[in-house]
Amino acid sequence: MNMKEYIEEAEKDLLHTYNRYQIVLERGDGVRLYDMEGKEYLDFVAGIAVFALGYHNKEYNDALKGQIDKIIHTSNYYYNKPAIQAAKKLKKVSGMDRVFFTNSGAEAVEGALKAARKYAYLKDGRTDHEIIAMNHSFHGRTFGALAVTGNPKYREPFEPLIGNIRFAKLNDMESVKAQITDKTCAIILETVQGEGGLIPAEENFLKELRALCDERDILLILDEIQCGMGRTGYMYAWQKYGVKPDIMTTAKALGCGVPVGAFLMTERVGSRSLEAGDHGTTYGGNPLACAAVEKVLDLFEEEHIIDNVNKVAPYLEKRLDELKEKYGCIKERRGTGLMQGLVFEEPVGGIINRALENGLILINAGPNIIRFVPPLIITTENVDEMISILERSIMPV
Ligand SMILES: *Cc1c(COP(=O)(O)O)cnc(C)c1O
Repeated sequence: MNMKEYIEEAEKDLLHTYNRYQIVLERGDGVRLYDMEGKEYLDFVAGIAVFALGYHNKEYNDALKGQIDKIIHTSNYYYNKPAIQAAKKLKKVSGMDRVFFTNSGAEAVEGALKAARKYAYLKDGRTDHEIIAMNHSFHGRTFGALAVTGNPKYREPFEPLIGNIRFAKLNDMESVKAQITDKTCAIILETVQGEGGLIPAEENFLKELRALCDERDILLILDEIQCGMGRTGYMYAWQKYGVKPDIMTTAKALGCGVPVGAFLMTERVGSRSLEAGDHGTTYGGNPLACAAVEKVLDLFEEEHIIDNVNKVAPYLEKRLDELKEKYGCIKERRGTGLMQGLVFEEPVGGIINRALENGLILINAGPNIIRFVPPLIITTENVDEMISILERSIMPV
Protein backbone atom coordinates (compact mmCIF):
# COMPACT_ATOMS: atom_id res chain seq x y z
CA MET A 1 0.00 0.00 0.00
CA ASN A 2 1.21 3.53 -0.64
CA MET A 3 0.90 6.37 1.86
CA LYS A 4 -2.43 7.60 0.52
CA GLU A 5 -3.91 4.11 0.75
CA TYR A 6 -2.72 3.70 4.35
CA ILE A 7 -4.41 6.97 5.21
CA GLU A 8 -7.65 5.81 3.58
CA GLU A 9 -7.53 2.60 5.63
CA ALA A 10 -6.91 4.62 8.79
CA GLU A 11 -9.97 6.72 8.10
CA LYS A 12 -12.06 3.55 7.76
CA ASP A 13 -10.78 1.87 10.91
CA LEU A 14 -9.69 4.42 13.49
CA LEU A 15 -12.26 6.49 15.30
CA HIS A 16 -12.12 9.94 13.82
CA THR A 17 -11.23 11.93 16.95
CA TYR A 18 -8.36 13.79 15.29
CA ASN A 19 -8.15 15.74 12.04
CA ARG A 20 -4.79 14.26 11.16
CA TYR A 21 -2.12 15.71 8.91
CA GLN A 22 -1.92 13.63 5.74
CA ILE A 23 1.36 11.82 6.37
CA VAL A 24 2.32 8.45 7.81
CA LEU A 25 5.45 8.87 9.94
CA GLU A 26 7.73 5.89 9.98
CA ARG A 27 11.04 6.64 11.64
CA GLY A 28 13.06 9.34 13.29
CA ASP A 29 16.65 10.35 13.84
CA GLY A 30 17.66 13.21 16.14
CA VAL A 31 15.37 16.12 15.31
CA ARG A 32 14.34 14.65 11.93
CA LEU A 33 11.29 12.56 11.13
CA TYR A 34 10.71 10.56 7.95
CA ASP A 35 7.38 9.59 6.42
CA MET A 36 6.85 6.24 4.72
CA GLU A 37 7.80 7.73 1.35
CA GLY A 38 11.16 8.78 2.79
CA LYS A 39 10.41 12.51 2.92
CA GLU A 40 12.38 14.27 5.66
CA TYR A 41 10.90 16.72 8.17
CA LEU A 42 12.47 18.96 10.77
CA ASP A 43 10.44 18.29 13.91
CA PHE A 44 9.37 21.22 16.12
CA VAL A 45 6.60 19.29 17.87
CA ALA A 46 8.35 16.27 19.44
CA GLY A 47 5.10 14.32 19.55
CA ILE A 48 3.68 17.25 21.54
CA ALA A 49 6.49 17.97 23.98
CA VAL A 50 7.30 14.28 24.41
CA PHE A 51 10.44 13.21 22.61
CA ALA A 52 12.86 15.51 24.46
CA LEU A 53 15.97 13.43 23.74
CA GLY A 54 15.45 13.28 19.99
CA TYR A 55 14.67 10.17 18.02
CA HIS A 56 16.82 7.09 17.75
CA ASN A 57 18.89 7.80 20.84
CA LYS A 58 20.99 4.68 21.03
CA GLU A 59 21.42 4.52 24.80
CA TYR A 60 17.72 5.01 25.36
CA ASN A 61 16.79 2.38 22.77
CA ASP A 62 19.31 -0.09 24.19
CA ALA A 63 17.96 0.40 27.71
CA LEU A 64 14.46 -0.44 26.53
CA LYS A 65 15.65 -3.45 24.54
CA GLY A 66 17.57 -4.69 27.57
CA GLN A 67 14.51 -4.37 29.77
CA ILE A 68 12.31 -6.15 27.22
CA ASP A 69 14.61 -9.14 27.41
CA LYS A 70 14.38 -9.18 31.22
CA ILE A 71 10.74 -8.47 32.00
CA ILE A 72 8.12 -6.09 30.62
CA HIS A 73 5.39 -6.34 33.18
CA THR A 74 4.83 -7.68 36.66
CA SER A 75 2.03 -6.15 38.74
CA ASN A 76 1.97 -3.51 41.41
CA TYR A 77 1.48 -6.32 43.95
CA TYR A 78 5.20 -7.00 43.56
CA TYR A 79 8.25 -4.74 43.60
CA ASN A 80 10.33 -4.19 40.50
CA LYS A 81 13.79 -2.65 40.27
CA PRO A 82 13.18 -0.10 37.48
CA ALA A 83 10.23 1.42 39.39
CA ILE A 84 12.27 1.71 42.58
CA GLN A 85 15.20 3.32 40.77
CA ALA A 86 13.03 5.59 38.63
CA ALA A 87 11.13 6.83 41.70
CA LYS A 88 14.37 7.65 43.49
CA LYS A 89 15.66 9.64 40.52
CA LEU A 90 12.36 11.41 40.01
CA LYS A 91 12.30 12.43 43.68
CA LYS A 92 15.80 13.79 43.35
CA VAL A 93 15.07 16.02 40.35
CA SER A 94 11.68 17.18 41.65
CA GLY A 95 12.35 17.55 45.35
CA MET A 96 9.04 15.79 46.02
CA ASP A 97 8.75 12.85 48.44
CA ARG A 98 6.30 10.24 47.12
CA VAL A 99 5.70 8.97 43.59
CA PHE A 100 2.79 7.15 41.97
CA PHE A 101 3.41 6.08 38.35
CA THR A 102 0.55 6.25 35.86
CA ASN A 103 0.10 5.43 32.17
CA SER A 104 -0.67 8.94 30.96
CA GLY A 105 -0.97 12.57 31.90
CA ALA A 106 -4.72 12.47 32.38
CA GLU A 107 -4.34 9.59 34.82
CA ALA A 108 -1.74 11.55 36.75
CA VAL A 109 -4.26 14.38 37.08
CA GLU A 110 -6.98 11.93 38.18
CA GLY A 111 -4.66 10.62 40.89
CA ALA A 112 -3.74 14.12 42.01
CA LEU A 113 -7.41 15.08 42.37
CA LYS A 114 -8.19 11.90 44.30
CA ALA A 115 -5.25 12.49 46.63
CA ALA A 116 -6.43 16.05 47.31
CA ARG A 117 -9.99 14.95 48.05
CA LYS A 118 -8.81 12.18 50.33
CA TYR A 119 -6.52 14.56 52.22
CA ALA A 120 -9.45 16.86 52.89
CA TYR A 121 -11.79 13.97 53.71
CA LEU A 122 -9.40 12.66 56.35
CA LYS A 123 -9.37 16.13 57.94
CA ASP A 124 -13.09 16.80 58.26
CA GLY A 125 -15.01 13.78 56.92
CA ARG A 126 -16.97 15.93 54.46
CA THR A 127 -17.82 14.67 50.99
CA ASP A 128 -18.57 18.00 49.32
CA HIS A 129 -15.10 19.45 48.84
CA GLU A 130 -14.43 21.88 46.03
CA ILE A 131 -11.49 22.31 43.68
CA ILE A 132 -10.51 25.54 41.94
CA ALA A 133 -9.12 25.35 38.40
CA MET A 134 -8.16 28.04 35.85
CA ASN A 135 -9.91 29.28 32.73
CA HIS A 136 -8.22 28.09 29.49
CA SER A 137 -6.45 25.29 31.34
CA PHE A 138 -5.93 21.83 29.90
CA HIS A 139 -5.57 18.78 32.13
CA GLY A 140 -6.66 15.85 29.95
CA ARG A 141 -9.68 14.04 28.53
CA THR A 142 -10.88 11.71 31.29
CA PHE A 143 -13.84 12.78 33.41
CA GLY A 144 -11.89 14.15 36.35
CA ALA A 145 -9.22 15.82 34.25
CA LEU A 146 -11.87 17.19 31.91
CA ALA A 147 -13.82 18.59 34.85
CA VAL A 148 -10.86 20.86 35.72
CA THR A 149 -10.14 21.76 32.08
CA GLY A 150 -11.14 25.40 31.52
CA ASN A 151 -12.50 24.99 28.01
CA PRO A 152 -16.31 24.68 27.91
CA LYS A 153 -16.18 23.28 24.37
CA TYR A 154 -14.27 20.20 25.58
CA ARG A 155 -16.43 19.80 28.70
CA GLU A 156 -20.03 20.48 27.77
CA PRO A 157 -21.00 17.40 25.71
CA PHE A 158 -19.84 15.12 28.52
CA GLU A 159 -21.53 16.73 31.48
CA PRO A 160 -22.23 15.96 34.25
CA LEU A 161 -18.53 15.63 35.07
CA ILE A 162 -17.18 15.37 38.62
CA GLY A 163 -18.85 18.13 40.57
CA ASN A 164 -17.78 21.01 42.78
CA ILE A 165 -15.23 22.54 40.42
CA ARG A 166 -14.95 26.34 40.31
CA PHE A 167 -12.99 28.31 37.73
CA ALA A 168 -10.82 31.37 38.28
CA LYS A 169 -8.64 33.55 36.06
CA LEU A 170 -4.95 32.70 35.75
CA ASN A 171 -2.71 35.44 37.17
CA ASP A 172 -5.65 37.15 38.88
CA MET A 173 -5.51 36.61 42.63
CA GLU A 174 -8.80 38.38 43.30
CA SER A 175 -10.64 36.00 40.98
CA VAL A 176 -9.16 33.03 42.88
CA LYS A 177 -10.12 34.49 46.25
CA ALA A 178 -13.66 34.99 44.99
CA GLN A 179 -13.96 31.22 44.44
CA ILE A 180 -12.55 30.14 47.81
CA THR A 181 -15.05 28.68 50.29
CA ASP A 182 -14.71 26.62 53.47
CA LYS A 183 -15.05 23.56 51.20
CA THR A 184 -12.08 24.33 48.94
CA CYS A 185 -9.58 21.46 49.15
CA ALA A 186 -7.26 22.18 46.23
CA ILE A 187 -6.23 24.62 43.54
CA ILE A 188 -4.94 23.11 40.31
CA LEU A 189 -3.09 24.89 37.53
CA GLU A 190 -0.44 24.41 34.87
CA THR A 191 2.72 26.28 35.80
CA VAL A 192 2.79 27.28 32.12
CA GLN A 193 -0.48 26.80 30.23
CA GLY A 194 0.16 24.74 27.09
CA GLU A 195 -2.97 24.05 25.01
CA GLY A 196 -4.54 27.21 26.41
CA GLY A 197 -2.01 29.38 24.59
CA LEU A 198 1.49 29.20 26.10
CA ILE A 199 0.78 31.41 29.09
CA PRO A 200 3.12 31.23 32.09
CA ALA A 201 1.73 31.69 35.59
CA GLU A 202 3.36 34.83 36.97
CA GLU A 203 5.80 34.65 39.85
CA ASN A 204 3.74 36.84 42.16
CA PHE A 205 0.56 34.97 41.41
CA LEU A 206 2.23 31.65 42.25
CA LYS A 207 3.71 33.05 45.45
CA GLU A 208 0.37 34.48 46.56
CA LEU A 209 -1.38 31.21 45.72
CA ARG A 210 1.18 29.34 47.81
CA ALA A 211 0.62 31.69 50.74
CA LEU A 212 -3.17 31.42 50.46
CA CYS A 213 -2.96 27.63 50.32
CA ASP A 214 -0.68 27.53 53.37
CA GLU A 215 -2.93 29.82 55.33
CA ARG A 216 -6.05 27.70 54.70
CA ASP A 217 -4.50 24.21 54.36
CA ILE A 218 -5.58 24.01 50.72
CA LEU A 219 -3.42 21.81 48.48
CA LEU A 220 -1.62 23.42 45.55
CA ILE A 221 -1.50 21.08 42.55
CA LEU A 222 0.84 22.06 39.73
CA ASP A 223 0.33 20.29 36.41
CA GLU A 224 3.80 20.02 34.86
CA ILE A 225 2.82 17.49 32.22
CA GLN A 226 3.75 19.75 29.31
CA CYS A 227 5.97 22.42 30.87
CA GLY A 228 7.98 20.02 33.06
CA MET A 229 10.96 17.82 32.19
CA GLY A 230 13.37 20.60 31.34
CA ARG A 231 11.28 22.39 28.76
CA THR A 232 11.40 25.79 30.47
CA GLY A 233 15.09 25.55 31.34
CA TYR A 234 14.30 24.08 34.77
CA MET A 235 13.55 20.43 35.42
CA TYR A 236 10.12 21.57 36.63
CA ALA A 237 8.86 25.02 35.80
CA TRP A 238 7.94 25.85 39.41
CA GLN A 239 11.57 25.48 40.41
CA LYS A 240 12.26 28.83 38.75
CA TYR A 241 10.06 30.53 41.36
CA GLY A 242 10.73 28.26 44.31
CA VAL A 243 6.97 27.82 44.72
CA LYS A 244 6.75 24.17 45.62
CA PRO A 245 3.45 22.39 45.03
CA ASP A 246 1.90 19.90 47.46
CA ILE A 247 1.07 17.63 44.54
CA MET A 248 2.62 17.70 41.09
CA THR A 249 1.85 15.88 37.87
CA THR A 250 4.35 14.94 35.18
CA ALA A 251 4.09 12.89 31.97
CA LYS A 252 4.77 13.67 28.26
CA ALA A 253 8.61 13.79 28.18
CA LEU A 254 8.93 11.65 31.33
CA GLY A 255 9.23 8.44 29.31
CA CYS A 256 10.20 10.13 26.03
CA GLY A 257 7.69 8.09 24.07
CA VAL A 258 6.94 5.16 26.34
CA PRO A 259 3.50 5.94 27.80
CA VAL A 260 4.14 6.90 31.42
CA GLY A 261 3.21 9.67 33.81
CA ALA A 262 3.32 10.23 37.54
CA PHE A 263 1.84 12.25 40.32
CA LEU A 264 4.11 13.18 43.15
CA MET A 265 3.47 14.65 46.56
CA THR A 266 5.18 15.90 49.65
CA GLU A 267 5.50 13.60 52.64
CA ARG A 268 2.88 15.68 54.46
CA VAL A 269 0.27 14.83 51.80
CA GLY A 270 1.65 11.35 51.16
CA SER A 271 1.18 10.34 54.76
CA ARG A 272 -2.34 11.77 55.00
CA SER A 273 -4.14 10.88 51.76
CA LEU A 274 -4.16 7.79 49.54
CA GLU A 275 -3.70 4.53 51.44
CA ALA A 276 -3.54 0.87 50.45
CA GLY A 277 -6.71 0.10 48.50
CA ASP A 278 -7.51 3.72 47.60
CA HIS A 279 -5.92 3.85 44.18
CA GLY A 280 -4.26 1.56 41.68
CA THR A 281 -3.39 0.71 38.10
CA THR A 282 -2.48 -2.50 36.31
CA TYR A 283 0.21 -1.10 34.04
CA GLY A 284 1.27 2.05 35.90
CA GLY A 285 4.93 1.92 36.87
CA ASN A 286 5.64 -1.33 35.08
CA PRO A 287 9.27 -2.32 34.49
CA LEU A 288 9.36 -1.27 30.82
CA ALA A 289 7.87 2.17 31.45
CA CYS A 290 10.11 2.74 34.46
CA ALA A 291 13.23 1.59 32.62
CA ALA A 292 12.41 4.38 30.17
CA VAL A 293 11.95 6.95 32.96
CA GLU A 294 15.18 5.91 34.61
CA LYS A 295 17.15 6.16 31.36
CA VAL A 296 15.55 9.47 30.42
CA LEU A 297 16.53 11.00 33.76
CA ASP A 298 20.09 9.66 33.41
CA LEU A 299 20.41 11.03 29.88
CA PHE A 300 19.06 14.42 30.92
CA GLU A 301 22.06 14.65 33.22
CA GLU A 302 24.69 13.03 30.99
CA GLU A 303 23.71 14.95 27.89
CA HIS A 304 23.20 18.27 29.73
CA ILE A 305 19.73 18.63 28.26
CA ILE A 306 18.70 21.56 30.46
CA ASP A 307 21.91 23.46 29.64
CA ASN A 308 21.01 23.08 25.99
CA VAL A 309 17.52 24.46 26.60
CA ASN A 310 19.02 27.48 28.33
CA LYS A 311 21.41 27.98 25.46
CA VAL A 312 19.00 27.59 22.55
CA ALA A 313 15.78 29.05 24.02
CA PRO A 314 16.97 32.70 24.06
CA TYR A 315 17.99 32.31 20.42
CA LEU A 316 14.58 30.84 19.51
CA GLU A 317 12.90 33.76 21.32
CA LYS A 318 15.04 36.26 19.46
CA ARG A 319 14.31 34.74 16.06
CA LEU A 320 10.57 34.53 16.80
CA ASP A 321 10.59 38.16 17.99
CA GLU A 322 12.24 39.15 14.70
CA LEU A 323 9.49 37.37 12.79
CA LYS A 324 6.89 39.21 14.81
CA GLU A 325 8.49 42.55 13.91
CA LYS A 326 8.63 41.58 10.24
CA TYR A 327 5.10 40.26 9.68
CA GLY A 328 2.03 42.28 10.56
CA CYS A 329 -0.06 39.08 10.75
CA ILE A 330 1.84 38.07 13.93
CA LYS A 331 0.44 39.74 17.04
CA GLU A 332 2.55 38.36 19.84
CA ARG A 333 5.19 35.89 20.95
CA ARG A 334 4.44 34.04 24.16
CA GLY A 335 5.91 31.35 26.33
CA THR A 336 9.14 30.47 28.02
CA GLY A 337 12.12 28.21 27.28
CA LEU A 338 11.50 25.73 24.48
CA MET A 339 7.75 26.15 24.93
CA GLN A 340 6.89 29.07 22.70
CA GLY A 341 3.91 30.34 20.75
CA LEU A 342 3.34 32.83 17.97
CA VAL A 343 -0.10 34.41 18.07
CA PHE A 344 -1.46 35.26 14.61
CA GLU A 345 -4.36 37.50 13.61
CA GLU A 346 -5.91 34.63 11.65
CA PRO A 347 -6.17 30.82 11.96
CA VAL A 348 -2.79 29.17 11.42
CA GLY A 349 -3.95 25.89 9.78
CA GLY A 350 -2.82 27.02 6.31
CA ILE A 351 0.65 27.98 7.51
CA ILE A 352 1.09 24.67 9.34
CA ASN A 353 0.03 22.70 6.25
CA ARG A 354 2.42 24.63 4.01
CA ALA A 355 5.22 24.12 6.54
CA LEU A 356 4.55 20.39 6.41
CA GLU A 357 4.83 20.45 2.62
CA ASN A 358 8.08 22.35 3.05
CA GLY A 359 9.45 19.74 5.45
CA LEU A 360 8.74 21.27 8.86
CA ILE A 361 6.46 19.79 11.50
CA LEU A 362 4.62 22.38 13.60
CA ILE A 363 1.44 22.30 15.66
CA ASN A 364 -1.14 24.81 16.85
CA ALA A 365 -2.42 25.63 20.33
CA GLY A 366 -5.93 26.89 19.66
CA PRO A 367 -6.87 28.17 16.19
CA ASN A 368 -4.58 31.22 15.98
CA ILE A 369 -1.39 30.14 17.73
CA ILE A 370 1.55 28.17 16.35
CA ARG A 371 3.21 26.24 19.14
CA PHE A 372 6.93 25.44 19.22
CA VAL A 373 7.77 22.48 21.49
CA PRO A 374 10.78 20.87 19.78
CA PRO A 375 12.99 18.07 21.05
CA LEU A 376 15.18 19.61 23.77
CA ILE A 377 18.35 18.69 21.84
CA ILE A 378 17.79 21.22 19.04
CA THR A 379 20.61 23.53 18.01
CA THR A 380 20.62 27.18 16.95
CA GLU A 381 21.17 25.93 13.36
CA ASN A 382 17.93 23.95 13.66
CA VAL A 383 16.22 27.16 14.81
CA ASP A 384 17.54 29.03 11.75
CA GLU A 385 16.34 26.25 9.46
CA MET A 386 12.92 26.24 11.13
CA ILE A 387 12.58 30.02 10.80
CA SER A 388 13.50 29.97 7.14
CA ILE A 389 10.92 27.24 6.34
CA LEU A 390 8.32 29.01 8.47
CA GLU A 391 8.89 32.28 6.59
CA ARG A 392 8.39 30.51 3.27
CA SER A 393 5.18 29.03 4.70
CA ILE A 394 3.81 32.35 5.97
CA MET A 395 4.44 33.99 2.57
CA PRO A 396 4.05 31.26 -0.01
CA VAL A 397 6.06 32.05 -3.15
C1 LIG B 1 -1.08 16.68 27.55
C2 LIG B 1 -1.49 17.22 28.85
C3 LIG B 1 -2.30 16.49 29.74
C4 LIG B 1 -2.88 15.14 29.37
O1 LIG B 1 -1.90 14.17 29.18
P1 LIG B 1 -2.28 12.82 28.40
O2 LIG B 1 -1.03 12.00 28.48
O3 LIG B 1 -2.64 13.21 26.99
O4 LIG B 1 -3.43 12.21 29.09
C5 LIG B 1 -2.59 17.05 30.95
N1 LIG B 1 -2.13 18.26 31.31
C6 LIG B 1 -1.34 18.99 30.49
C7 LIG B 1 -0.84 20.30 30.94
C8 LIG B 1 -1.02 18.51 29.21
O5 LIG B 1 -0.29 19.25 28.39
